[in-house]
Amino acid sequence: MSLVLTGVPVLVVDGPEADVAAELLREQGAVPVGWGDVATRIGLVRIPAGTETTAADEALAWAHRNGIPVDDRRPREERKDATSSSTVGEVVLVGGGPGDPELITVAGAKALAEADVILTDHLGPVDLAEDAAARGAELIDVAKIPYSRQVAQERINELMVERASEGKKVVRLKGGDPFIFGRGYEEIEACTAAGIPVQVIPGVTSMTAGPAVAGISLTHRGLNHDLTLVSGHVPPDSSKSLVDWTALAGMTGTLVLIMAVKNAGAIAAELIAQGRDAATPAVVVENASMPGQRVTAATLATLGETIEREGLGHPAVIVIGDAAGHIAELG
Ligand code: SAH
Repeated sequence: MSLVLTGVPVLVVDGPEADVAAELLREQGAVPVGWGDVATRIGLVRIPAGTETTAADEALAWAHRNGIPVDDRRPREERKDATSSSTVGEVVLVGGGPGDPELITVAGAKALAEADVILTDHLGPVDLAEDAAARGAELIDVAKIPYSRQVAQERINELMVERASEGKKVVRLKGGDPFIFGRGYEEIEACTAAGIPVQVIPGVTSMTAGPAVAGISLTHRGLNHDLTLVSGHVPPDSSKSLVDWTALAGMTGTLVLIMAVKNAGAIAAELIAQGRDAATPAVVVENASMPGQRVTAATLATLGETIEREGLGHPAVIVIGDAAGHIAELG
């Protein structure tokens, strides 16, 4: 096997044979790089740019994160610290379900039990994260990160990457499923860009769990053949809206709204204006699966005023459509 190394940076780890290694790499067209004093001493390009890092393990972790090959000729016994600390940790995105700690998957619970660090916000089974903290895991409440949502998301990504680079097993606990309005994909991209292995454990989304615990079936034989999920975090008249409300109003099946408590009245008015029947059943499931769960029935015409009158709030799932006209009595 021959490796084409032309122009490829290769991290040379300091040791008795480092100078020889650097020379051989140069002959093959590679760009040997080193860190701190080592770089200066054996004449290598210094990495990471601008740092004074002298620890081999940090340099190795850096190389691993950036996909840079390593030439490490130190005797095996000297590589102990390097091997242990270059063991990069991992990030597991866990869908925690709607909030009831029993509605997480077995795989999700196992990942929490094994986690060194847990990043959580305020939706989903936060109690489980606190249990893990009680047995010694580090718990980071990312809902408390100040500044804008964007800055907060960047900080979450940074924290995940930082902790995993230290060799830790990081669980990013999310409400519901990570890929339903959960920014899970962005978090995966951040990990991948940093060379951190990442896994996803799906979760029970509030979109289906909310109605289910309330006794509402989102599909009914003979009633509907379609089911649509919409985020209502921006009102229909917003220039930021990506939803085709006219098309939605023309549909006959079940419509599930999340992040929509504040804009529910405006959404209902828009659907009616675009032709959906004002008498269409609409049910609000607040705090689904949690203490304080409330199920409140209305129609499209009365949805906004009902939410206001009853003081319904976040988090809530709203089900609109004929299917919402059937609420099972659950014992
Ligand atoms: N990834 C999550 C959704 C995140 S968006 C999931 O799959 O469930 C947050 C929205 O989810 C909330 O605004 C609310 O509409 C809904 N939600 C989450 N948990 C809920 C709960 N326990 N009860 C009702 N709605 C919930």
